[in-house]
Amino acid sequence: MLADLHSHTWLSDGALAPQALIQRALDNQVTHLAITDHDTTDALDHIEAWPQPEQLTLIPGVEISCLWEQREIHVVGLGFDRHDATLQGLLQRQQQLRWQRAQDMDLQLQKAGITGLTRYLETLPCKAVSRNHVADFLIERGVARSKSHAFKNHLGDRGRFRVVAQWCEIGEAVAAIQQAGGLAILAHPNRYNVGNAKLRRLVQAFAATKGQGIEVSYSNIDPNVMGHMASLCIDNGLWASTGSDFHTPTQQWMDVGRFRRLPAQCADRAIWMHPAWPACIVAGSQLRATAQ
Ligand code: AMP
Ligand code: MN
Ligand code: MN
Ligand code: MN
Repeated sequence: MLADLHSHTWLSDGALAPQALIQRALDNQVTHLAITDHDTTDALDHIEAWPQPEQLTLIPGVEISCLWEQREIHVVGLGFDRHDATLQGLLQRQQQLRWQRAQDMDLQLQKAGITGLTRYLETLPCKAVSRNHVADFLIERGVARSKSHAFKNHLGDRGRFRVVAQWCEIGEAVAAIQQAGGLAILAHPNRYNVGNAKLRRLVQAFAATKGQGIEVSYSNIDPNVMGHMASLCIDNGLWASTGSDFHTPTQQWMDVGRFRRLPAQCADRAIWMHPAWPACIVAGSQLRATAQ
């Protein structure tokens, strides 16, 4: 079993169409794939080759941008009914916040003499516009040298075109995912740029909202960091998830299915051993009926 439970398509800020991502997952021997685009579940509407290939089980997924103590935190949802009205209502609001933020950035860029962001974004296949797209635009216009330069100087916490969005609180995302029958997972916990004490408080706060899982293994993770994530998982009674956070084939270090196996201390609390997991799979096969 190789479960990649965190990946992106071009419905958010990934480079591949949903079908191409599925093909890549098959090529990389992934057995369970969750497409977890930012604030949209639309990738599943675009998958043509139903029924799904026998070697690969699809699990409905999403990655919701949230706030916790004014910090941006990502919550992954897995195995929910993607037609649930409360969840889709939340995702619609998040997508609107994304468009509003992009337009606010466009205004700031215009003040700096850089025009055309909104027009550029409208040409993309995405449903959820992201700072990643804005970074591409800045590179195309010669404003930024690279993605990391674009985030560091222009779009990140100290960037000159930074705009803060009022995402939902983590508790609201967790509740919406669970109300739709899914499992809520705290994404890539060591990527929030917080110290150990604050990270511990975040994981405790997430567990207090009744979130079920935490990502323990993901792309490029140092074994020591993974050990730390495993203890956070165990100490807070959470289940352990795995996923590449794949966006594009050009980032070879974040390829689909390429991450370490869960460490031994977490093996008996893998998210696919959660009592609700079989229902996640059933929900996945139900997708077929609605996608035709
Ligand atoms: P957003 O969710 O629209 O705020 O955009 C954040 C996305 O930008 C993340 O999901 C990453 O895919 C990407 N991203 C964030 N920080 C960086 C960075 N420093 N370098 C490259 N990509 C980044
Ligand atoms: Mn992204
Ligand atoms: Mn994320
Ligand atoms: Mn992601």
